Amino acid sequence: METKFIADSMLGKLARWLRVLGCDVEYFSSIGDRELVELAARTGRLILTRDTLLVRRRGASNNHFFVEGDDFRNQLRQVVEHFGIDPSARFLTRCLGCNALLEEIEKSAALERVPSYIYETQVEFRVCPICSRIYWQGTHRQGMARELEECLKPGP
Ligand SMILES: [Zn+2]
Repeated sequence: METKFIADSMLGKLARWLRVLGCDVEYFSSIGDRELVELAARTGRLILTRDTLLVRRRGASNNHFFVEGDDFRNQLRQVVEHFGIDPSARFLTRCLGCNALLEEIEKSAALERVPSYIYETQVEFRVCPICSRIYWQGTHRQGMARELEECLKPGP
């Protein structure tokens, strides 16, 4: 079964990039350690953390992946390698802000909600069921794919 994650408050950028890959990652910019550990247990999520104190807490010691270093590219590579995540399998299927799975919508439904040059040039649109943000392919996606390639390149 797919591993679901919850990232500690220091790992916002990592959480966002894991969402780009379609991983299920909860993230709260301010959450207490105790609350985080409890939420992880309650929702069956593995804690991603850089916090050496947090990992010693009861409930966290057996339920975390410790991320090394402060560079999000490096962090992303560690998680992708350790969990065998396929970077392209579910690329941009999840809202980067809400973590919700995107839903496909008819092109016509996007008409008044995206810039007209986007509407003219894009074919597929998806929407976040929580924040209603519209996602499409194209430049946005290419830029991210390139950035991702950089991130996942084996380090020196
Ligand atoms: Zn959203």
